[in-house]
Amino acid sequence: MDKTNQTATSCIRVDALKPDRTIVDRAGEIIRDGGLVAFPTETVYGLGANALDSAAVDRIFLAKGRPANDPLIVHIAALDQLSLVASDVPDIALELFERFSPGPLTLVLAKQRAIPAALTAGLATVAARMPDHAIAKALIDAAGVPIAAPSANTFSRPSPTRAQHVLDDLQGRIDMVLDGGQTVIGLESSIVDLSCDPPQLLRPGGVSLEDLRAPLPELQYQPQYLHDDSAAASAPGSLLRHYSPRARLLLFRAEIDADATAAMRAYISGQSNLGVIAMDAEAKQFLRTGAEIECLGRNLEEAGYRLFAALRALDERGVEEILARYPERHGLGLALGDRLLRASAGHVIDVPKS
Ligand code: AMP
Ligand code: MG
Repeated sequence: MDKTNQTATSCIRVDALKPDRTIVDRAGEIIRDGGLVAFPTETVYGLGANALDSAAVDRIFLAKGRPANDPLIVHIAALDQLSLVASDVPDIALELFERFSPGPLTLVLAKQRAIPAALTAGLATVAARMPDHAIAKALIDAAGVPIAAPSANTFSRPSPTRAQHVLDDLQGRIDMVLDGGQTVIGLESSIVDLSCDPPQLLRPGGVSLEDLRAPLPELQYQPQYLHDDSAAASAPGSLLRHYSPRARLLLFRAEIDADATAAMRAYISGQSNLGVIAMDAEAKQFLRTGAEIECLGRNLEEAGYRLFAALRALDERGVEEILARYPERHGLGLALGDRLLRASAGHVIDVPKS
């Protein structure tokens, strides 16, 4: 890869179920040579580099404009590779991985010495996950090394759920994009820190808190949102402003959904250049208001799948503000609410009960 950070980015279509060996082998070679390859996982697109190569890891931070105090997740293809990444793996880690992996679960464990300090932002712990996607798995196998991969977007932008989103942000800054179509979950992994007692859910994601607590009843979740970078080292990745569209996002929170929708309609009246993201059942209430509408589907799973693409689509249409309702706080709603809150940088309007 060109060290001036200007690279010809090739984007190659790959079958998401039966990836072409020749293409994946070429991508694996790029990773082994210290380059950057974006690839689909079941959550979002990742920007991959050899996790054991410090210079390659540095390139991820450079390409994304990601601050050095925000550690990366290491992706492995099989449980037997965990020992390359983590040391002192407790039984509960194996139990959780066996139950939820491959899948959207990341565990924070004591780090193996071979993992470069830049990858973990100098921490003694490392985050590891096993993605549930044939292309991701084939790429890790072809590279023959664990792959460090944050989401393949410019830092603080909405995560990419399609190859075009990756190109919109990173074209000319990375070597290759493997285009495996739209990612199926659309929200990032759940991150569980097993290096502390009691264990903490650091980020709600594709595996729900309820499901995680079945094998791990003592799991705590105390959302932390930092307003600036100063305390980031003790709580990596908890900056409030993240996943943000260019438009200002306003989040309407009410006990009763209909109250939030009514407040959103009242806010829209008389204003132009607004966008709304809403569940299908609520979207019709915004017809003829003049607002641009993006429908999130019929349930939380569909909303997770569509959220980031909806934010990007409204940006494309040039709206200045986007309105959304705070989702229910169970199942995937916890992850959805976290992403919306951060996309809004904390602009929450509490709607009183009608
Ligand atoms: P992503 O940007 O989706 O790749 O997620 C990376 C996030 O994982 C970071 O922003 C942190 O929140 C979390 N993370 C990674 N490594 C660690 C670690 N060693 N300790 C705590 N959190 C971590
Ligand atoms: Mg990210």
